[in-house]
Amino acid sequence: KDLYGAERLNSQGADLSDPTIVGPLLTGMAAAWSKPWTGGPIVGGLTPAGNGRPIVDPSNNARLVGHVVEATAEDVERALSLASAAHHAWSARPVTERADCLTRAADLMERDRDELLALLTREAGKVLPDAIAELREAVDFCRYYATRACADFQPMVMPGPTGERNELRLTGRGVFVCISPWNFPLAIFAGQVAAALVAGNTVIAKPAEQTPLIAAAMVKLLLEAGVPPNVLHLLPGDGATVGGRLVGDRRVAGVAFTGSTETAHLINRTLATRGGAIVPFIAETGGQNAMLVDNSALPEQVVDDVVTSAFRSAGQRCSALRVLFVQDGIAPKVIEMLKGAAAELRLGDPALLSTDVGPVIDGEALSILQQHVERMKREAVTLFEGKLPYGCANGSFLAPHAFEITSLDQLPREVFGPVLHVIRFKGDKLDAMLDAIEATGYGLTLGIHTRIDRTARKIAERMPVGNIYINRNMIGAVVGVQPFGGEGLSGTGPKAGGPRYLARFAAERTLTINT
Ligand code: GLU
Repeated sequence: KDLYGAERLNSQGADLSDPTIVGPLLTGMAAAWSKPWTGGPIVGGLTPAGNGRPIVDPSNNARLVGHVVEATAEDVERALSLASAAHHAWSARPVTERADCLTRAADLMERDRDELLALLTREAGKVLPDAIAELREAVDFCRYYATRACADFQPMVMPGPTGERNELRLTGRGVFVCISPWNFPLAIFAGQVAAALVAGNTVIAKPAEQTPLIAAAMVKLLLEAGVPPNVLHLLPGDGATVGGRLVGDRRVAGVAFTGSTETAHLINRTLATRGGAIVPFIAETGGQNAMLVDNSALPEQVVDDVVTSAFRSAGQRCSALRVLFVQDGIAPKVIEMLKGAAAELRLGDPALLSTDVGPVIDGEALSILQQHVERMKREAVTLFEGKLPYGCANGSFLAPHAFEITSLDQLPREVFGPVLHVIRFKGDKLDAMLDAIEATGYGLTLGIHTRIDRTARKIAERMPVGNIYINRNMIGAVVGVQPFGGEGLSGTGPKAGGPRYLARFAAERTLTINT
């Protein structure tokens, strides 16, 4: 049971060393790969016919995953009018009925495990362990928010004078727009949508342009689970045609967004200038995430956690480690071991069990990263430069890199890929390092490696960072266990997978009855 008495419902993983588990899994995924996947707007339960834009596999650009039809301005308008009209009836349904839809959707995701994993590996280029972890997270979000909603949406009786009854209750706000990223195209997509729905909102979801097929599969499961077709709509398309139009419309009663800090600022400006109601904006953005390692740390553990945090998932997590601050006494050993460990990572086809690091999401992301790597080669000390193995030429692969820099000023923006930056510091400069990290304005994740308890506590207490990890890696927050989300430039809160997430999707109403 968790702190609030709710059952702990985290889903089970798969033991990838057991052939009786892996065999059927790979067979099921192979069957799903051969399907002609199609996606498109789902408005009122209907998808328009059409060929659409091809979606190619980031690990092999010659391989087609499927096609997507993009939403038009008319689709946006139709979704807005259907979602607005459907809100009252959906919000008036007992919370348990809305929660049941999420619980059923979680079960259906487990039923369709192989197809969802196949899409995650091919459309998003996820290696199998990451795909499995993501599916589990999506399932957990649905079950966790269903459980929490049933507790949170009960009327709360407030103390008051005799002869008066006061109740506080949560209720849906209206049409919620959910804008999600390609790096967690299933988990973050499902998490935002599930939260908004169970809180009593109707939802228009705009998935990332790179991953509309997984989003379409998830919406179909939610509809199958009982969410009425006028309550949930999917609008794949570009930011201007779809996202901008939606956010600028006064019928929208709230926006949940995960993506870049720049886009979050843009949405905030649009909401501020569109007029109409002042509505909640829930943003989860990037970070310039650091790990601090002092001389007392265990080098072997540090290296394992650095490799996991910086290079797993090809560094494409907003929680990933970008800058390793390592004290001068331990630095030579850590850097030496890091070179060896990083050289062991295998790049390649994400669907192979032997692959550690898959591709980055597309050619555009690769070229931004390559430009950064070239600049670092000129302006920093190259600690190591991974090599692309044979077979990676057709995909958007970047081998892990590490550079030694002297100041955070050398990194004007988040570098979203498998590139690590290392800064050595002297013991008396720890506070200056903390000041520099704080001055970036980001506050998403922070790692600390030290065997001195006082140092760990001192750093954790002073840093305005949403998720702080001591003596472990700093990725893979678990729903209901490590509520996730940042501060400052990294986001507005509330924390995804945490006990206070749903309230931000709801309005609070007080009812006072003179009895
Ligand atoms: N929740 C994920 C983690 O803890 C990161 C989410 C993201 O990249 O947006 O690694």
